[in-house]
Amino acid sequence: MIAKKVSHVLKRPGLRKDDPTYEIPVAEDLVTEPGIPQNPTDVDFYSRQYPLESQNIAYTADRAWVWTVYSPEEEESHLEHERLQAPLVNAASVSGDIQPTVKPTPGKNVTEEIKTMARELGFGEVGVTRYDKRYTFQYKKKWVHYEHAVCLAFEQDYERTQAIPSSFAEYTHFGTYRTMSQLALILADYIRSLGYHAQIHSPNDNSAPYIPMFVAAGLGQLGANGQLLSPHFGSRARLMIITTDALLTYDKPVDYGIHKFCQVCQVCVNRCPGRALMRDKVWWRGVEKNKLVYERCRPVMARYSGCGVCMKVCPVQKYGMKPVMEHYVETGAVLGKGTHELEGYNIEGKGYFGPGELPHFNHDFFEIPHGRSEDVLFEEFKQKLQNAEIPDGPAGDQALRDFKKGVEDILARPDSDSMFAVMPEEA
Ligand code: SF4
Ligand code: SF4
Repeated sequence: MIAKKVSHVLKRPGLRKDDPTYEIPVAEDLVTEPGIPQNPTDVDFYSRQYPLESQNIAYTADRAWVWTVYSPEEEESHLEHERLQAPLVNAASVSGDIQPTVKPTPGKNVTEEIKTMARELGFGEVGVTRYDKRYTFQYKKKWVHYEHAVCLAFEQDYERTQAIPSSFAEYTHFGTYRTMSQLALILADYIRSLGYHAQIHSPNDNSAPYIPMFVAAGLGQLGANGQLLSPHFGSRARLMIITTDALLTYDKPVDYGIHKFCQVCQVCVNRCPGRALMRDKVWWRGVEKNKLVYERCRPVMARYSGCGVCMKVCPVQKYGMKPVMEHYVETGAVLGKGTHELEGYNIEGKGYFGPGELPHFNHDFFEIPHGRSEDVLFEEFKQKLQNAEIPDGPAGDQALRDFKKGVEDILARPDSDSMFAVMPEEA
């Protein structure tokens, strides 16, 4: 047991409106910098030369593939979510064009009004920052209207989250998105009643990876699991944004000690069934982080109810940041690490895996189609040509017609076909 010196004590609002201030001690040896270490010149360069694109556009091949591995119950659950969420996604997509209902009071800063309203509606973490266009997905660049981002985190149900991975837990993930999408419509109306525009960036039709803006707004730091670790509920936070032209004051990034703490903890890295999380940090697009390997995660997520083990086993999710950081200061250890309570999980059809135990998947398990559906189709066609499987004459003509039809079907799919589980952090 090694007690640590405290560098600073953070004071955050309590979880509920009248809760006392939440004080988080940050040990001296966990201090790095507020937010996340980054090189702005590199972030600028990558955003200009290699802009991000949404999973909806850049990963259509595996987005189509996941439907082939869902069980009938899972397929129905996803379809039900799509049916229920579609009107909310549509409402969000046109929200930026709705005009305010009154003229704003000149010079009046409305930050506190908007934050209070958001908290009263049930958003557990609310912060304000500049909408960072460097992260905007290419296909959303013309859609984003306003300069300021109100970052809104909604807490996912605690009990159900501890049952990850399961359809029971996946259902609360979907339900949380629907609840917060409905509440965002009310909050946007409220912003318009103050005299300003409000554009809702849906959690199911992301305009960008939202985590960098939440970090800039001081609402947490990026964990090794690729998720925002927020003070009260860690990565059990579902995220969305409202952009606005309202007169607002920006929050500042905070050093919660998480950037360093994750290198001590490593529980999610050790417990990931897909071995998709990296132990060491790398510099990626100008930011220092533990990079998730999409190709290792996606096959697990698709087959095991959205997986989410990396969320479930995170001590900050399970216990909250204050107890975790207090325990670290008192003992130098990670609260819950090595226990069945924190680290254990069931994988359907494979059984229970306690600390130190991981399921095994063979090589074929990770073979999934990559990139865009049309590119996969073209590669298949090219392969057949190279293998002389497409002869001249009627059979060859039919193969060409099939290829044409395949491409037409892909092009007919809507861009914002966005109802699949959102991956852990994508940037
Ligand atoms: S969701 Fe992906 S990264 Fe997280 S534990 Fe599962 S496989 Fe690993
Ligand atoms: S489990 Fe540990 S290493 Fe992973 S995100 Fe949570 S605190 Fe960081």
